[in-house]
Amino acid sequence: MKLKDSSSPVCRATSLMLALALPLASGGCQGRGVTASHSLSPPRPQTCDRPTAYEQADMTADLAYLASPALDGRAPGSPGDVAARSFIAERFACLGLATVGSLVGFEQPFTDQAGNHTANVLGQITGTKPGLAAESVLISCHTDHFGGGKLGANDNASGVAALLSIAQDLVNRGIKPDRTLLFAAFGAEETGFEGSEYFMTNPPPAFDTSKLVYNVNMDMVGSYTASKMLHALGSFDGTAGKTAVMAHTSEHPNLTLSFGDESSLSDNATFCSRGVPYLFFWTEDTECYHQTCDTSARVDYASLASIAPLVGSVSLELANSSSDLRKGIVATKDVCAGTP
Ligand SMILES: [Zn+2]
Repeated sequence: MKLKDSSSPVCRATSLMLALALPLASGGCQGRGVTASHSLSPPRPQTCDRPTAYEQADMTADLAYLASPALDGRAPGSPGDVAARSFIAERFACLGLATVGSLVGFEQPFTDQAGNHTANVLGQITGTKPGLAAESVLISCHTDHFGGGKLGANDNASGVAALLSIAQDLVNRGIKPDRTLLFAAFGAEETGFEGSEYFMTNPPPAFDTSKLVYNVNMDMVGSYTASKMLHALGSFDGTAGKTAVMAHTSEHPNLTLSFGDESSLSDNATFCSRGVPYLFFWTEDTECYHQTCDTSARVDYASLASIAPLVGSVSLELANSSSDLRKGIVATKDVCAGTP
């Protein structure tokens, strides 16, 4: 749609096997014309051979690709959306993540309200502890933005880059969590959490949504420098989420955190409204929120490279907790409204 060259249908058709087999220098989809009409487009990072998961340069490369003019903001159903999803799915495959339920592949297709064909990208590291493995802690972000020149670097290529680095780290370390760690890059969030709603109303076959016990959501985690504050929204007193965050804040003395506020402005609202407690990591961006100036050049990569490991540690802490993760959640609607 908004991408006028012919590269994206090629991207769409590129099989996972082919994409993974292509040598890095070839550029894969990115090399098939995107650079011809968008000479400033960064290369498409394809490798998961990254011994250091939270390397700032690698996270920068992932984010810059997702927020490149070639992908034009990843609007649902657009060629940029297709390319972003295939990029995420290829990384999941490269990392050896398992598919979710009995889904074939990592994409869960759906059609949004405007009739665009898009998808959630889902993968998991399956839990290993009897009695807990059936429960899932969901680490989520959204892939889509608006397009039309709004590239959505902070909103939310930053969350996707963080999600990929967390998966990389857990795989690098050979982590076998007690509970299943579910990774989701949801589609069509900007138009009303459509991807996460679809996931809950039409879950993958053999996936039990009643065993989804926590949501750790990331949206706009690349603008820490604007207010020097990382908001851990949903971290209400008495929740397992707050305990998990508190256990790891000292590892990141460069970050100042805010606790206890609520938010229903991202996919976490989908889960909270169904009784699933959440942590929503967010940094404020008053200047370029939903504006064309939300570009990769503005992202605070140094802070992002600290926020991602914090979120990863918190998620793993939750997955391995012996506590009832819903403890402290008295009334769902009150929690979502911020008064547990
Ligand atoms: Zn967002």
